[in-house]
Amino acid sequence: MEKINFVVIGYGGMGGYHARELIQEKDGVQVIGVYDIDEKRLEVAKNDNFKTYDTLESVLNDKSVEAVLIATPNDSHKELAIAALKAGKHVVCEKPVMMDTKELEEVIAVAKLEHKTFMVHQNRRWDNDFLIIRDLYETKQIGDLFQIESRVQGANGIPGDWRHMKQHGGGMLLDWGVHLLDQMLFMVDSPVKTVAADLSFVLGDEVDDGFISYLTFGNGVKAIVEVGTTNFVKLPRWYVRGFEGGAVISDWDLSGEIVKQTGIIDHHNLVPIQAGQGLTKTMAPPSEDATTTLPIKEVAADFDNFYHNFYDVVRNNAEPIVKNEEVYRVLRLIEAIFEAAEKQQVIEFE
Ligand code: NAD
Repeated sequence: MEKINFVVIGYGGMGGYHARELIQEKDGVQVIGVYDIDEKRLEVAKNDNFKTYDTLESVLNDKSVEAVLIATPNDSHKELAIAALKAGKHVVCEKPVMMDTKELEEVIAVAKLEHKTFMVHQNRRWDNDFLIIRDLYETKQIGDLFQIESRVQGANGIPGDWRHMKQHGGGMLLDWGVHLLDQMLFMVDSPVKTVAADLSFVLGDEVDDGFISYLTFGNGVKAIVEVGTTNFVKLPRWYVRGFEGGAVISDWDLSGEIVKQTGIIDHHNLVPIQAGQGLTKTMAPPSEDATTTLPIKEVAADFDNFYHNFYDVVRNNAEPIVKNEEVYRVLRLIEAIFEAAEKQQVIEFE
């Protein structure tokens, strides 16, 4: 099989990770070089034994380069993607794919015109915690899920430099937000009916240091998607309720619990518990024989890995796992979240 030769554009945190770990020959792809505008990063790439290119033109003029991976600050994705596509290269682009839907429309149009593959690296579709929740959603082990809360919270503020700046597409909604919203839309097979949201500016940056969004879906699912960077105490990564139970996944270590209702709760013979300075039957735990705890088991993705799928899309016309219509919908949702937060209104979405 003829391998797809990649050049990594942007040898920072994520570009380095793609070059050293993600783009693997076993998937039919390989890195043949690196380009970065920063000479110091090129030096690092050389020390990591990569061939380096000094200019974008030299990458684009190199006939042995079949594809590029764009891992630069968000505001540079569009220009780089269009230049690469016009030079006849396939493109893998880091998230958030573009700054807004208008930019993405332009890029998709060029990809179509040039008959080249343009695919976005929504890698968190393969996260174990997400796959477990998606499995609960699909298999209905705790009944139909009707409430899904997805959060990531940290206390280190916004990292780095460009992520603090609006002009570079900074802020947490475009950063972690795009991952969590992509997961939610990939899982819940229903239109998003309404969107409400609030952005956080605790740190005083010009961009959001976090946000909370409330989504209602046509099938009745209500979701909360939240990102925080000033949270010294974290809420669980996932909290979901189904009609026959509930689940918590606390963190990426997959700690948590899945509780399934197995028997009838006897409302008439509930034993009250002491709660603070009072007694309560309502908040007493259900009797032991009414529930069971299910193990949290890793769930394998029922779809191919990212780069192998990319190879298949380019060589065999396979269906991409990350479709451009999907990333477009997520970007549209992000725009609706910005709007809902700014107007402090509930937005009708789909
Ligand atoms: P970074 O600041 O660590 O690295 C960016 C690199 O791009 C730097 O080395 C910089 O010199 C270089 N660069 C800037 N403009 C350039 C240009 N025009 N041409 C060539 N090189 C240029 O940033 P990062 O954290 O690696 O993020 C890069 C991209 O990857 C962002 O879009 C980010 O959202 C995404 N990202 C994705 C994930 C993920 O899990 N999918 C994780 C982190 C970052």
